[in-house]
Amino acid sequence: NAPLSELDPEIAAVLKDELGRQRDTLEMIASENFAPRAVLEAQGSVLTNKYAEGYPGRRYYGGCEYVDVAENLAIQRVKDLFGAEYANVQPHSGAQANAAALAAMIKPGEKIMGLSLAHGGHLTHGMKLNFSGKLYDVAAYQVEPDTFRIDMDKLRDQAIAEKPQVLIAGWSSYPRQLDFAAFRSIADEVGALLWTDMAHFAGLVAAGLHPSPVPYSDVVTSTVHKTLAGPRSGVILAKAEWAKKLNAAVFPGQQGGPLMHVIAAKAVAFKVAAGEEFKERQARVLEGARIIAERLNAPDVAAAGVSVLTGGTDVHLVLVDLRNSVLDGQQAEDLLHRVGITVNRNAVPFDPRPPMVTSGLRIGTPALATRGFGAAEFTEVGEIIAAALKGGADVDALGARVKALTANFPLYPGQEEW
Ligand code: PLP
Repeated sequence: NAPLSELDPEIAAVLKDELGRQRDTLEMIASENFAPRAVLEAQGSVLTNKYAEGYPGRRYYGGCEYVDVAENLAIQRVKDLFGAEYANVQPHSGAQANAAALAAMIKPGEKIMGLSLAHGGHLTHGMKLNFSGKLYDVAAYQVEPDTFRIDMDKLRDQAIAEKPQVLIAGWSSYPRQLDFAAFRSIADEVGALLWTDMAHFAGLVAAGLHPSPVPYSDVVTSTVHKTLAGPRSGVILAKAEWAKKLNAAVFPGQQGGPLMHVIAAKAVAFKVAAGEEFKERQARVLEGARIIAERLNAPDVAAAGVSVLTGGTDVHLVLVDLRNSVLDGQQAEDLLHRVGITVNRNAVPFDPRPPMVTSGLRIGTPALATRGFGAAEFTEVGEIIAAALKGGADVDALGARVKALTANFPLYPGQEEW
């Protein structure tokens, strides 16, 4: 029964150092967030000990009476949150939710059509080294070279020519809203199912600040840990008629025992996401992204060859185009890291540089909004990033400005260790 610090001081030190890193830097990776303390508590609990293969009321193990309560709460809360007829809260991750969704919808060898990875899509939407690219026939669509947006007329022409069985709406790196009604109409026209992967923007949908794909899609998948700020995991929503196929595709199709501690933590996250504070926070997420996009699109930054893809953002992230900058994506990521800002380099569509280097940055605001940042702080963050990317700035002075921001917004206050 020894505490972690005694039993394994090396791992205890990792936790302490990571907590310090999260506290002392500005976390701007668009897919990250800070889970509330209550989510971490549920996740780090005795529920980790429980096997519960099957579904609530229909388990293959005894002793599931309490974990059934947790799973039923998670299911009901996420259905209410998104107005869905069916939910499966067992996927261990977004990728596994996606694997199960495809397995339920089509057979290996059938065709999927999603946004190309190089243009902002996700690995699981048909990348050739991923299960999705190996199991299914893939026709990827792209953004336009002049606008960097998806042209729905062209997408329609391509869908008519390719006749996919599944049309995929969703992205990991695209700064604009999708037109779900248009996706639905194209899917209907070509006889495809419509699958939306809202992993990135689910929190905005939950807050009512982004159109919902749920009424338009046959199946919707999401992660729970990005804008939704829950435990790292996945979830599937669908029309009721998909229940049997999706349940079977998750268990026994893809997974064994569900992670009941994570499912309990999902239930907590969905409760939080239904509240007013969450809505207010998502509004700050959007405002912050708009402020940063505007700053990085200003003439003084443009003079250094730095611009914002599509000229702005409708969501929680900003894509910075460095194709005309002296910095490549790797150098810009490293520079911001030295300042104390964590972002990820990201290929821009039609990127001339290799994927490990890239010509872009993806900058997200969800984690800082969770930390409490509002317009004034995001304005300062935009100034710091602009100064760094313009070149010639004093990195230590910028680092001191980052420290001032982190000091004013304590993360997990009162928590000595984790
Ligand atoms: N779908 C999209 C659109 C994503 O951006 C991601 C994660 O980056 C995933 C799925 C996969 O989620 P996970 O990392 O939990 O497997």
